[in-house]
Amino acid sequence: MLHKDKTEQESIRIKRRHFLQLSTAGLIGAGLIGLSPFTTVEAKPVNTTSRIVILGAGAAGISLANRLTRETKGASITIIDDRERHLYQPGLTLVATGIWRTAAMLDQNSRYIPKDVNWVKSVVQSVDPDRNQVLLVGGELIHYDYLLIATGLELNFSAIEGMRADLIGRHGIGCVYDTPESAEGTWKAIDEFAHSGGVGIFTRPPGAIKCAGAPLKIAMLTEHLLRQRKMRERADFFYTAPGTGIFSQPDVDTFLKVNFPERGIDIHWNQQLVSIEPERQRATFSTEQGIVHKDYDFIHVVPPMQAVQPIRESNLSWQTGPFSGWLEVDRHTLQHKRYANVFGAGDCVGTPIGKTAASVKAQVPVVVHNLLRVINDETPDAHYNGYTSCPLITERGQAMLVEFDYDLNMVPSFGFIDPLKEQWVPWIMKDKMLRGAYNAMLRGRV
Ligand SMILES: Cc1cc2nc3c(=O)[nH]c(=O)nc-3n(C[C@H](O)[C@H](O)[C@H](O)COP(=O)(O)OP(=O)(O)OC[C@H]3O[C@@H](n4cnc5c(N)ncnc54)[C@H](O)[C@@H]3O)c2cc1C
Repeated sequence: MLHKDKTEQESIRIKRRHFLQLSTAGLIGAGLIGLSPFTTVEAKPVNTTSRIVILGAGAAGISLANRLTRETKGASITIIDDRERHLYQPGLTLVATGIWRTAAMLDQNSRYIPKDVNWVKSVVQSVDPDRNQVLLVGGELIHYDYLLIATGLELNFSAIEGMRADLIGRHGIGCVYDTPESAEGTWKAIDEFAHSGGVGIFTRPPGAIKCAGAPLKIAMLTEHLLRQRKMRERADFFYTAPGTGIFSQPDVDTFLKVNFPERGIDIHWNQQLVSIEPERQRATFSTEQGIVHKDYDFIHVVPPMQAVQPIRESNLSWQTGPFSGWLEVDRHTLQHKRYANVFGAGDCVGTPIGKTAASVKAQVPVVVHNLLRVINDETPDAHYNGYTSCPLITERGQAMLVEFDYDLNMVPSFGFIDPLKEQWVPWIMKDKMLRGAYNAMLRGRV
């Protein structure tokens, strides 16, 4: 037995050494958050005097700006966003669970937006794609030849009666999706719950959300924390799902449907949080059996999400169907379906899956390549395959690196990582390495 333990430990040591060697060689850093299915950098910059306007300076917008700066010559590139602070959003999960300090996820957009790009520090009020113009709050009009939309998404707290962002961190309410300050408040609420025990509820709304693994990670990390603090017997855990699945990729869904009950997290199917009474610490759900009230000591609230108003309420959004309100693009070329001079990338696009930084990394080279084709009067020929990735943290020190595409097929980047196994390596990626790869993506380098 002792011998077996030693052999296992040695095998783990060898795997770790192998991983660290790969990482030192930069191989993992380059491929992290996914091997983009289309990463070609144009050999020669395209000469053009076009006015290219990018809406939003988040992960997608800045990455687009950097690639376009390198891959065009003579273009006038403008990016519009009033936000100066850059948020490394994957860090929110780690801040909300007490693993990272807030400063670790904060940065400045000025460090990444290329000097040659005209940064308009303002907010887009509306877009008129028939006149090729953008109206800013304050009244200024910006005209474009080509428009790239990367405005992310917004949280719709008001869809839950009684819920407001300023409640996060009080009355046992947490939410990982809001600001870094709210993530700190969430950690405060989780920490209190881990001291007191009681009933913990973890919700998930219907519809598309960014990083759909985050609500699961918060539930699992909180459950693990209570185990570590020897408080697990003094708490009940409930995860509410709006339908009959908890993860879109079927193999991961099957894994979680076994794993959650095994660790004592009861899944309540077909339940949607409709209202919250903070003072009473009571949540109300609509269920197939009607309205159900539940008292809680801690609740992780995930609001429904939607494209930002200037996109949602413009002629650029899908008017009907499952992606109604999101930017209407061809799911492969990312070109707008009705306006050939408009493209989209990031959380704003109405495609079946995506809404991760890993998707952004795969989408941006496709958008840039296809835009340059259109500028040259050619047909877009690069295809985004729906690539998305989630380091699904199951407990502190363990995660599963799940990567899949539109067909929900697993597309693992690293042969030595089993996507359905809880392992140390994906945890180290999430905790220590993803940030560097993300910054390289912002600079359009990977
Ligand atoms: C808790 C959490 C955990 C996550 N974990 C992971 C992970 O582990 N792995 C991963 O790959 N991804 C993860 N993500 C997802 C990832 O962060 C997003 O998918 C990514 O940031 C999307 O980039 P974006 O550019 O589309 O949107 P954002 O980065 O949100 O940028 C949108 C920008 O648009 C601007 N904007 C909005 N409206 C306007 C307007 N009207 N005018 C001008 N500008 C405007 C905003 O100010 C913002 O700067 C996580 C996200 C969260 C919240």
